[in-house]
Amino acid sequence: MLRLFNTLGRRKEEFMPMDDQNVKMYACGPTVYDSPHLGNLRTFIVVDTLRRFLILKGFRVTEVMNITDIDDKTIRRSRSEGIPLRQYTEKYTEAFFSDIDKLGIMRADAYPKASQHIDEMVGVIKRLKEAGYAYQSNGSTYFSISKLKTYGNLSGARVGELSSVNRVSEDEYGKEDAHDFALWKGWVEEDGEIYWDTELGRGRPGWHIECSAMSMKFLGKSFDIHVGGVDLIFPHHENEIAQSEAVSGARFVRYWIHVEHLIVEGKKMAKSLGNFYTLGDLTRMGYDYSSIRYLLLSSHYRDRLNFTFEGLRQAKESVKRLQDMFQRLVGPMQPHRFDERVAEDSTRFMKEFEDALDDDLNMPSALAVLFDYVRKTNRYLDDGTLSEGNREEIVKNLKRVDSILGLIVPPVVHVTAELGALLERREKARIDGDWALADDIRGTIESSGFRVEDTPYGPKLKRV
Ligand code: AMP
Ligand code: ZN
Repeated sequence: MLRLFNTLGRRKEEFMPMDDQNVKMYACGPTVYDSPHLGNLRTFIVVDTLRRFLILKGFRVTEVMNITDIDDKTIRRSRSEGIPLRQYTEKYTEAFFSDIDKLGIMRADAYPKASQHIDEMVGVIKRLKEAGYAYQSNGSTYFSISKLKTYGNLSGARVGELSSVNRVSEDEYGKEDAHDFALWKGWVEEDGEIYWDTELGRGRPGWHIECSAMSMKFLGKSFDIHVGGVDLIFPHHENEIAQSEAVSGARFVRYWIHVEHLIVEGKKMAKSLGNFYTLGDLTRMGYDYSSIRYLLLSSHYRDRLNFTFEGLRQAKESVKRLQDMFQRLVGPMQPHRFDERVAEDSTRFMKEFEDALDDDLNMPSALAVLFDYVRKTNRYLDDGTLSEGNREEIVKNLKRVDSILGLIVPPVVHVTAELGALLERREKARIDGDWALADDIRGTIESSGFRVEDTPYGPKLKRV
């Protein structure tokens, strides 16, 4: 039985979806004003791990992840760079998709963009006004937090007496500033050309209403899991709950999952602090996607992950051990014997691995169990105990494990020897830093109807 730590209530709870085996899950996606950094990617990897584990357990998962392409940051940045918002955010939306593909993150079922759902947001705000939860002031519309008794339940924020006097217009603010917040922001000079003329007046949505409107549109007024980084607990998720529950009268989300931060030398990795690494930064330094994927998924999601290059090097070794194990297993082997002890180890391993993940996705413990299994299996191979008779089950187990890790079993790709050789030459050129040659070879490969895709398993060819 899967147990997850629910931020709402702050304890581990047994996970049971509302609708039998169908899980509905929403994750706050990227704010597309810059390339994702490793911290963002950590959160997206945890979303991916959770989803993959739910699938392994037999659930059908519907996952929606939004793209924040309108908020204070995207507007400020696009204006300061003099590029229209849409064009500006498109570039970083592409960067996001490219990164998650490289890291082997499964695509969600939908990626709604805030800019495409303004009508729904206006609809929710109008209903909030009608129900007495929202009011207009100076061209903006605010949510009145004192009207909702449950406000603060998720984060522990307290509603002060002056909450409606010191209203907040910014998207981001601290818990000590729990005040009425903007649902709709009346147009101001700094918004430039970015506005919508609606029944609420000229302006744009606040960040929080975006997620309420899009999650309700795609998943309904109540759904199972909502994921995001811990920085979103307040105000973003507190406000999402307020807006959604005030308008629907139903419980919005049953399990709130929050991912701890990735930090660099003790500080949160953040675009605004300028201490961040992107995937591109690391691959230019020679690190590969599988090491990065491993590093990001190997710690417990509720622990901070201190990013170090030493950690990345260790991750590379761990991946290699797993891949080497798999290669040994598919190689030649002694025929026909079946060893009871090996079989027992295998059964026990699979159970312990899944039990560890059942316990609030305890990945460090699951990986410890896995490496113990790898050690034992290597020993059985060395001393000849392991033969054909046991091979199938071990390969099956590693494939099952890899449906979550996404690092061990290379996908089968059929290409000609000639194309394979070109791919290798391109890889070598990349390692040597000869980008011109690498691009050149990529061009040759593309002209024969294939595209090179970088994945955690290394570069792969896909037919276009
Ligand atoms: P953003 O693009 O800033 O909206 O963030 C996208 C996701 O990454 C959100 O769920 C954030 O909570 C999460 N996030 C931001 N910074 C970090 C960090 N340093 N470590 C882990 N997750 C983060
Ligand atoms: Zn959100």
